[in-house]
Amino acid sequence: MKKIYGNELLISTLCNMVKSGRTAHTVLFYGEKGTGKKLMAKLYTSLLLCKNPINNMACGICSSCRNVENESHPDVTYAVTSGKLGGYSVDTARKICSDAFIKPNNDSGRKIYIFRDCHNMDIRTQNTLLKIIEEPPDYAHFIFTAESKNDFLPTIISRCVCFGVSPCTEEETELSLAESGFRETDIKSAVSCFHGNIGMCTEYIKNEDLRKQVDLTKLLADSIIRKDEYALNTVLFSLGKERNDVKTVLSMLDKLIRDSAVLIHDKEAENIGCFREGAIKLSYMITSRIAEKIHRSIEKAWNTIECNVSIPLALSALCAEITEIII
Ligand SMILES: [Zn+2]
Repeated sequence: MKKIYGNELLISTLCNMVKSGRTAHTVLFYGEKGTGKKLMAKLYTSLLLCKNPINNMACGICSSCRNVENESHPDVTYAVTSGKLGGYSVDTARKICSDAFIKPNNDSGRKIYIFRDCHNMDIRTQNTLLKIIEEPPDYAHFIFTAESKNDFLPTIISRCVCFGVSPCTEEETELSLAESGFRETDIKSAVSCFHGNIGMCTEYIKNEDLRKQVDLTKLLADSIIRKDEYALNTVLFSLGKERNDVKTVLSMLDKLIRDSAVLIHDKEAENIGCFREGAIKLSYMITSRIAEKIHRSIEKAWNTIECNVSIPLALSALCAEITEIII
């Protein structure tokens, strides 16, 4: 298994949980995209199934560990998504519920079900799963990953042990990216945009589309700084019609606005956004109140797009709102 950077406390908690035999049957790993939630799900799975743990840690070399790593372990089921939005259907939940009552065949003595990226999991699906989560067989474990706890019903959350997964330090991210064999110049520019988020930094280096989205976010910030409604409109329309792409850019713009609000009070503050220079310029020309208003408008557009409303419509409303706020 590759070295995992950051989240030391979380990792040692998981190790201790398994060592002491007090393993949680339902676990949720939550945190922003790219922080390593799926990696944590894999780590917990390896800990549960490893045949020869070394110092409380999964060995990484036994057949179980290797199968978990390759996602081919017979006792590990990755729930499959369906539909346009990639959700989990009631049917999938039902199949997993009935499968969970069949005892494991293999020597691990455990069965593990993993639901990744449970963004907005259908309420009916959650209610179907609730039955098994309330009283799981001794050998069954359920692992969820999601960006937020709010993606779940309170009844599900109350039965989960929830672990927040955090970004690393920038130094750790640089080390991890260097270990993956990336070039130093690429690492520097990735870390300047995505800081301690190893997943997003990796994506930035590998994926040209994300680099374009970062550039578009910077152009949006520039249009706001120049109070140029026409440019703002043009850039917003160039985001395209792909829901997730537009949401990514809006999220990045939102972080940048958050940074400028923080920089108003502390010029040395650390950033979470992708464009420090832009955030600094903005911090000189807006107040916290204006930053908050822009944030609300972005949030509104984001939610509207999430609800399947026409993207151009949501974006032109956003353009009009931001222009009204800054002019
Ligand atoms: Zn092992």
